[in-house]
Amino acid sequence: MSTTITITGAGGQIGYALLFRIAAGDLLGPDEKVRLRLLEIPQGIGAAEGAALELQDGAFGLLEHVEVSDDAAVGFDGCDLALLVGARPRGPGMERGDLLAANGGIFGPQGAAIAANASPDVRVTVVGNPANTNALIAAASADGVPSSRFTALTRLDENRARAQLAQTLAVPVDTVRRVPIWGNHSATQFPDVSHATVAGRPASEALEAIVGDVPAWLDSTFIPRVAKRGAEIIEVRGSSSVASAASATLDHVRDWVHGTDDWTSAGVVSQGQYGVPEGLVCSFPVQSIDGEWQVVEGLEVSDWARQRIEASVAELVEERDAVTALGLL
Ligand code: NDP
Repeated sequence: MSTTITITGAGGQIGYALLFRIAAGDLLGPDEKVRLRLLEIPQGIGAAEGAALELQDGAFGLLEHVEVSDDAAVGFDGCDLALLVGARPRGPGMERGDLLAANGGIFGPQGAAIAANASPDVRVTVVGNPANTNALIAAASADGVPSSRFTALTRLDENRARAQLAQTLAVPVDTVRRVPIWGNHSATQFPDVSHATVAGRPASEALEAIVGDVPAWLDSTFIPRVAKRGAEIIEVRGSSSVASAASATLDHVRDWVHGTDDWTSAGVVSQGQYGVPEGLVCSFPVQSIDGEWQVVEGLEVSDWARQRIEASVAELVEERDAVTALGLL
């Protein structure tokens, strides 16, 4: 048995960082063979073909097959896991509506191609921005595929939040849990520390001892640092984050397939939990149980946190309304 994994935008930077880790077994473990389908637009085919040659030279024992194509029917044929990375970046002078329209033109047909060609229990993870709304469009175009099979990546935001909290508390990052991201994968996202634990104990007292006024620290330091981390990386590195985005993508898919023992974050289709309008792809605290993401329900949400969540959800509603007006939904 092997798993067929499709990566769109496979000739791009995040794609390049993903491919070799998947082939090395970092996604599905050392015993699961993988078949890779690299989907690109014609301009990206050369880069994807080059990556395929390098994959061959990696002599990965787990890698059964690599196929490169610019045809979505070929790219999604038999696909078990779809990583939708390729997206249209915002160009000079492009308005938000132009960006949504350009990406709707990519993710709508991809959703339809997934429905027509992928395996019946396909799992789709959208990385390309605007990720939540792109996932919404792909799900709406995938007749017959349950919308629960479409997700948007917010794990990078969560990883950033856990890492910032760990650094502040001077503890190992893997002891920090329960720092979910709510809302949109954008500057309005809400990284929520109110339920955070360190080594299984509430983080709140330790945090207060270090930062003093926790609400002020959240407002002025923590939330902006997490939300603007992408811009910080661009400033320091000279180009956008790549390996950390790829790593978070692997975390998301691995947890979806193999399950979680605690909460994490994912953009999933809302069933109305926490008042988020049904049908929006919104990030929630989630657990993966029996191969399905389930929203962690019944959490106490303060008025302050609710305002933050509502602001990000309002942005998702605006994006949905914009793509509906464009006839993409
Ligand atoms: P990247 O591989 O760096 O990024 C791909 C997408 O991931 C972008 O939409 C980017 O959003 C998004 N992204 C999400 N999280 C992050 C993050 N933390 N840091 C950086 N990006 C993030 O882009 P490249 O330009 O190198 O590659 C894109 C490839 O996709 C190209 O090869 C292009 O040909 C291909 N493509 C394929 C399509 C298809 O298969 N149909 C359609 C369109 C493009 P943001 O722009 O906001 O940074």
